[in-house]
Amino acid sequence: MNQDIAPDVIIIGSGVGGGAVAHQLAGTGARILILERGDFLPNEPQNADPEAVFAQARYRTTEEWQHADGRRFRPGQYYHVGGHTKFYGTAMFRLRDSDFGEQAFAGGVSTGWPIGPDDLRPHYAMAERLFGVRGQAGGDPTEPARDPYDHAPIPHEPVIADMADRLRQQGMRPFHMPSAIDYGPQGACQRCGTCDAFACRLDAKGDAETRLIRPLLKHPDVTLWTGAKVTRLIANDCDGEITGVELMHGNTPLRISAPLVVLSAGAINSALILLRSATQAMPQGLANRSGVVGRYLMNHHLTGLMGVRPLAANPTRFPKTLSVNDFYHGLPDDPDARGNLQMLGNISGAMIRSTYPQMPRVMADWLGRHSIDWLCMSEDLPDPDSRVRLLPGDRVQIEYAAGGREGHDRFVRHMRRQLRRAGFPIVLRHSFGIEAPSHQCGTVRMGADPATSALDHLCRAHDHPNLFVVDGGFFPSSAAVNPALTIAAQALRVGEHLRHQWRQIAAAA
Ligand SMILES: Cc1cc2nc3c(=O)[nH]c(=O)nc-3n(C[C@H](O)[C@H](O)[C@H](O)COP(=O)(O)OP(=O)(O)OC[C@H]3O[C@@H](n4cnc5c(N)ncnc54)[C@H](O)[C@@H]3O)c2cc1C
Repeated sequence: MNQDIAPDVIIIGSGVGGGAVAHQLAGTGARILILERGDFLPNEPQNADPEAVFAQARYRTTEEWQHADGRRFRPGQYYHVGGHTKFYGTAMFRLRDSDFGEQAFAGGVSTGWPIGPDDLRPHYAMAERLFGVRGQAGGDPTEPARDPYDHAPIPHEPVIADMADRLRQQGMRPFHMPSAIDYGPQGACQRCGTCDAFACRLDAKGDAETRLIRPLLKHPDVTLWTGAKVTRLIANDCDGEITGVELMHGNTPLRISAPLVVLSAGAINSALILLRSATQAMPQGLANRSGVVGRYLMNHHLTGLMGVRPLAANPTRFPKTLSVNDFYHGLPDDPDARGNLQMLGNISGAMIRSTYPQMPRVMADWLGRHSIDWLCMSEDLPDPDSRVRLLPGDRVQIEYAAGGREGHDRFVRHMRRQLRRAGFPIVLRHSFGIEAPSHQCGTVRMGADPATSALDHLCRAHDHPNLFVVDGGFFPSSAAVNPALTIAAQALRVGEHLRHQWRQIAAAA
């Protein structure tokens, strides 16, 4: 069935990538239709309830994926307006300059990007303004050249300030973590402490719904369809042009079209849509002459550390203010043991028991009250055999290979030692696996060579002149900082290009 609608641009996905492109195109006269499979997240008490969010997985998708050995799992995927930023931890880092270049490590090669730091710098600044990022320039020893932040950083609470002093005594240079929170005397944030992995009921979190989509909906040319799940794209066999988008709008199957299609369904789902769109003429799926679509799946090596001081409860309400990048380029005697260290949000007993259900409640609650919680993040090196695959019956298989894991483990061991020296007699660890693909990227990689990449430097599909892919799928390598700001910056860059293109078309018409 065809819907009586004639958009100029179809954007698939209302997350940070799709929202950023829409932001750039709004006001050009182009009629923009955003298709989002999820709905608006309800504002309700359960948003901040660890029992509801973790134990009951109230907001997580109910779909099931499987590992290569057939084990099924319910992935940590969230389908709502605003995408994963509804639940993200608001850490908004720029890539380091070195992340853009090719680098060889014992565990593999970190692929170079077809763009450099100068290409993204203005768009990073724009993304920071849009999301209201607060930070302090000059504190992070690996920080790329930048102007001061518009907003002062969130101050440390006493326990975190004390932690920073202890790390400094060991020769480290902890700094204020850049964060997209509306904090301060007039700010909406009330330091309830449930940011990381929770939605904010006060709209204090700079997420893609509050900062991009909601303001855009005031615009007459922007339309959002929720409950609109795209299943496949249709391409013209001759010139590759995308001529149709097939979706289920509620229970209604539709096919719609537009001169321009922007795919931003998240790294895994965008790859699945392209793979599902295979035809006789394009049996590997769309945008996939190179065979890379679905491959090079990365997610960061993520290990949580709980530093426990049995005699001291931790009353911190908003701990996510501190980060350490001293080992971003490796330990002095081990360049492969590298990564970023940053505070996690408060880990509560309910969160612990959702992962370790055998643990008695009283012990989990005690741990939650006495710990300071960190995240060690290392680069996940790209590997063509790390992939998302579509099986018969539309089953989704994740064959994840963690590239460079050994270096990450040595980095974590080092950080545990450092935290013990900083006064934590017990440091527990927990590794996050691909079941929670929170930093998924790489599955529709960009590159200069159409033989080894799906997208060019502006995220345009090499094989399809009117198709752009702007979610985390475009990352050629994952770096070791959180991805959202880079997705936003590159999508704003792509959107700027499309805006110029659109204005030229409109002027000529
Ligand atoms: C708990 C958690 C904490 C995180 N913390 C941080 C952090 O502190 N800092 C940071 O930088 N990053 C963080 N991240 C990661 C960050 O949220 C993501 O990298 C980012 O939001 C990805 O944006 P995206 O636009 O690529 O994709 P998504 O956010 O996944 O957006 C894709 C959108 O497309 C929709 N969609 C999917 N399939 C279809 C379909 N078939 N049809 C129509 N619509 C579809 C989805 O519902 C979604 O709205 C965190 C993630 C999680 C889960």
